[in-house]
Amino acid sequence: MSQLIPLTEEQREVQTLARDFATAEIAPHAARWDREACFPVGVARRMGELGFLGMLIPERYDGLGLDTTSYLLALEEIAAADASAAVLMSVHNSLPTQMLLAFGNDEQKERFLRPMARGELIGAFALSEPDAGSDASALRCQATRDGDDWVLNGTKSWVSSGSFADVIMVMARTDTPDARRRSKGISAFIVTPDLPGFHVGKKEDKMGLRASPTVQLNFDGLRVPAENLLGEEGQGFVYAMRSLDNGRMGIAAQALGIGRAALDAALDYAAERKQFGQPIREFQAIQFKLADMASRLASARAMLHLTAAAKDRGESTTLYGSMSKLLASETAMYVTTEAVQIFGGYGYVKDYPVEKYFRDAKITEIYEGTSEIQRIVIARELYANR
Ligand SMILES: Cc1cc2nc3c(=O)[nH]c(=O)nc-3n(C[C@H](O)[C@H](O)[C@H](O)COP(=O)(O)OP(=O)(O)OC[C@H]3O[C@@H](n4cnc5c(N)ncnc54)[C@H](O)[C@@H]3O)c2cc1C
Repeated sequence: MSQLIPLTEEQREVQTLARDFATAEIAPHAARWDREACFPVGVARRMGELGFLGMLIPERYDGLGLDTTSYLLALEEIAAADASAAVLMSVHNSLPTQMLLAFGNDEQKERFLRPMARGELIGAFALSEPDAGSDASALRCQATRDGDDWVLNGTKSWVSSGSFADVIMVMARTDTPDARRRSKGISAFIVTPDLPGFHVGKKEDKMGLRASPTVQLNFDGLRVPAENLLGEEGQGFVYAMRSLDNGRMGIAAQALGIGRAALDAALDYAAERKQFGQPIREFQAIQFKLADMASRLASARAMLHLTAAAKDRGESTTLYGSMSKLLASETAMYVTTEAVQIFGGYGYVKDYPVEKYFRDAKITEIYEGTSEIQRIVIARELYANR
């Protein structure tokens, strides 16, 4: 399907590079990685070599310094091959690196951002906790100052790439239990797994996105040097929320990639599969499904790319970023559900890829803010902008 919103030469080149890499080095292995629930770190390093882990980081820090649209185009291509590879890329590019770029000091940028831009260090983001999901500012992981260190105690949950990440952006409370300041009492810390007191805990056994390791991190007197505090004490929640504006666009691109792969598979299958003496694509019921799937994907993609352009013009994307994520993730769920239906019984088994797309699509409605939370953000912004 042709691209509705015109692309520049550079954007097309990035898209082609990502598509070629994804087709050759990711797609052929995605079913096995899903089955074995493992993602080879070597593939992440290879993504780094090609620049996919430094797409939004300026060239002066060894990144590619690309615009948001180029990044989202590349992410959609990677997601069409494997949603697990895409979440690694999305989290790394949108969350810890963007927080370092916006709020890190020169020394932190040299130590962490530069090697992350080259893909030599992989990033993760640890905000959620067992009892603090949508209500993230209720987090309880406690950081207490002790001499030249902060000492962290608590549990972070659902950390994508958490078992192999080299740099984890951790949000923890720096207020005291008797003087809780909700979101104002949270700071961001740059944590590395070599620090004493860092433990990787339970690995989640998930429905989809199985190759992406989602783990708990347990901090038992974790000693973080004071120089690893990001920006100002008490501002960590604000920094995290700002980076999630980017993150939501990344998840929208991931959802579009999954949905597009499902549509492509359904188009092929409907042309090949014969019932009642003709390919099922001849049935109007199937044609209507394919038409609706393609229309919704095109609409979600157009909204995302218009939002990306607004971001690159320096405009706030809180409203349209949330709308893009909501629309793209619900589209991915719709499209993958219809794809399974078009495959009939064969859509329900692992011989064909659509059952994986269906399982992978669901998470896009949940992480980086559930669909319910996106609707809350959108409604709030509607009133704020009147
Ligand atoms: C595979 C995976 C990877 C993840 N990766 C990361 C990561 O890398 N880093 C990280 O920090 N987190 C990560 N998360 C956590 C994710 O962001 C949370 O799961 C998500 O924010 C929802 O929180 P919760 O699971 O606690 O659900 P809850 O907040 O308990 O929500 C349960 C239900 O209640 C609804 N709900 C909650 N509050 C409201 C409200 N005010 N109004 C209406 N409905 C509401 C929700 O929409 C949902 O339907 C990941 C999660 C998964 C499953």
